[in-house]
Amino acid sequence: MNLGLSEEQAAVRQLARDFVVREIAPHAVTWDRQEEVDRGIVKKLGEVGFLGLTIDEEYGGSGGDHLTYCLVTEELGRGDSSVRGIVSVSLGLVAKTIAVWGSEEHKRRWLPGLTAGEYVGCFGLTEPGTGSDAGSLTTRAVRDGDDYVVNGTKMFITNGTWADVVLLFARSTDAPGHKGVTAFLVPADTPGLTRRTVHGKLGLRGQATAELVLEDVRIPASAMLGEEGKGFSAAMSALAKGRMSVAAGCVGIAQAALDAAVQYAGEREQFGGPIARHQLVQELISDIAVDVDAARLLTWRVADLVDRGEAFAVESSKAKLFASEAAVRAANNALQVFGGYGYIDEYPVGKLLRDARVMTLYEGTSQIQKLLIGRSLTGVSAF
Ligand code: FAD
Repeated sequence: MNLGLSEEQAAVRQLARDFVVREIAPHAVTWDRQEEVDRGIVKKLGEVGFLGLTIDEEYGGSGGDHLTYCLVTEELGRGDSSVRGIVSVSLGLVAKTIAVWGSEEHKRRWLPGLTAGEYVGCFGLTEPGTGSDAGSLTTRAVRDGDDYVVNGTKMFITNGTWADVVLLFARSTDAPGHKGVTAFLVPADTPGLTRRTVHGKLGLRGQATAELVLEDVRIPASAMLGEEGKGFSAAMSALAKGRMSVAAGCVGIAQAALDAAVQYAGEREQFGGPIARHQLVQELISDIAVDVDAARLLTWRVADLVDRGEAFAVESSKAKLFASEAAVRAANNALQVFGGYGYIDEYPVGKLLRDARVMTLYEGTSQIQKLLIGRSLTGVSAF
């Protein structure tokens, strides 16, 4: 594996850095306080090509490899995890899944809009009663002529109230495949689909997280993504790549924590000089730096495996597990460097800690990643 970046990769990373400085960083605190990112950012992300990374140009994508995708994701995460999450879901979980599993008709119908930032996608897997045990989902799709009629509730759906299309997972009653879960692409304005914002989140406050209620939602069979009964495989393959994206976002959080801690330690004076000269402050900073490097290397390794077409799912779990825990540690250490000022939102580290915390929970909790890694090593499922 080459640990250096190509000229093109470095240029796209710089583009992302500049974009974050110009379009995201000045607003991140306001969006966090008002609990809503300015939706105009989605169109801007589309225009600069960040919502089309790794997608074929034929469908409006901007191409590029997965390492480039991770570099951009890291920079977005460094600027504002709420914005990073919008991209990780709309592109990472929805558009990329359509690109892999969708029919030609699905690709032409949804990908140009998603990659341009005209549409937003959301990923509807979790339900009020089924989180980690997603395969037990109870949303039902019952065949009726050329349609399916869907009933159920989805919980904690990122982009939920903003979305134009829902990648929905439902149990189709007579499907023979894995647990009978089938994936559908549901336009969000389909009658019977209602959405309610989930308020009061600890972090990612700018993001539109929603509960989706489906009451007799009629979907044509042509909206089925992949084969009937293969939806759980589609969901799991989407999440395997999604975890790489979460890991990259976590590297961004940890890097932002490092930048903030180093700068503050050089400026803040106590006991007659900058706190940077105290060994215990340097310990906090060096712990963050090691977490940044380790998380980044694990994440790049996953991107490299994906780009080379090799198996990556377990490595993705390792990267997501480590990077998410590292991001929480790094943000917490940075907050310690800031002392009392870290505890108020005029300074960035409190938000970093709040935003980092959910990374150990979604797209599979840390415990679930350990079970996935453990299963691959022992051959025994402990689920
Ligand atoms: P539970 O599954 O109830 O877990 C509770 C605790 O039990 C955890 O500590 C867990 O690790 C532990 N546990 C459960 N099973 C085991 C086991 N077998 N062994 C050991 N420990 C176990 N979902 C989507 O589908 N789409 C989204 O876009 C989306 N976005 C989200 C955004 C936010 C802000 C949040 C908070 C969640 C989002 N989720 C989304 C849902 C997320 O993926 C779930 O919250 C997560 O999978 C955990 O499920 P749960 O909350 O039901 O917790």
